[in-house]
Amino acid sequence: MSLTLSSAHVHTTLCDGKTPAPDMARAAFEKGFVSLGFSSHAPQVFDQRYCMLPENEPRYREQIRALQDEYAGRMPIYMGLERDAYACVSAEDYDFYIASVHYLKWPGGFVAIDGAAEPLGRYVRERCGGDGLELARRYFGLLRDYVTAEKPPIIGHFDLIRINNRRLGLYDENTPVYRGMALDALRPMAETGSLLEVNTGGVARGYLTTPYPDAFLLKEWKNWGGEVIVTSDCHDMRLLDAQYDEAEELLRSLGYDHAVRLGKDTLWERYALK
Ligand SMILES: [Zn+2]
Ligand SMILES: [Zn+2]
Repeated sequence: MSLTLSSAHVHTTLCDGKTPAPDMARAAFEKGFVSLGFSSHAPQVFDQRYCMLPENEPRYREQIRALQDEYAGRMPIYMGLERDAYACVSAEDYDFYIASVHYLKWPGGFVAIDGAAEPLGRYVRERCGGDGLELARRYFGLLRDYVTAEKPPIIGHFDLIRINNRRLGLYDENTPVYRGMALDALRPMAETGSLLEVNTGGVARGYLTTPYPDAFLLKEWKNWGGEVIVTSDCHDMRLLDAQYDEAEELLRSLGYDHAVRLGKDTLWERYALK
């Protein structure tokens, strides 16, 4: 049984998830979760297949409020958002939000970092002169600027570009130049007080073999005094705590003795990893 017993990164059928919110809450409660945080993709004006439609935002709030009442005194439920850098709404009325970068802007519109490989490959060819590292530089630059400007509660899937690097072979993740670039983007985020998400979603869905972010980043994050939160980026209730044991083991192996989760009595609480 994993120790985290919570996820602050959960999608439902109101955005691109497969499980309706009430079923997700029931699954969390049956697993003995101490808390649950919903984080629908915030509305955006493009690529609306993946986000909550603006007209569904009031429904989302109603649904989560009803679940908060239903589980009151048993399992606190938090209303959050996963807010892309290009989302069109603010997160100020929410309990928390996850700051993520899923897109880069280009004259043709927006290209998804974690979408189909082909358009991203075309972006690299046409806009980055075929240089995959240039794509990484732009992605990390955008995320760094977003996080340092807004100091969000949670930094979402820090090295999301790994998913399509696997498919497109854009650069070698073990080279000093890539690692230095990623570390340079992460370093200023340690000053924001934001939680760095250890996101098991990519492993749970079979796209990756280790969570976001890569271990070399987690190791430095700890040296800089950063705090982490384990989440499942769950789109299907069967994967609500998938790969949590492995993520906790990875954190222990890097010297972490605790992580942070959505709390029972306070918004955030620490819990021991052993
Ligand atoms: Zn995301
Ligand atoms: Zn997500």
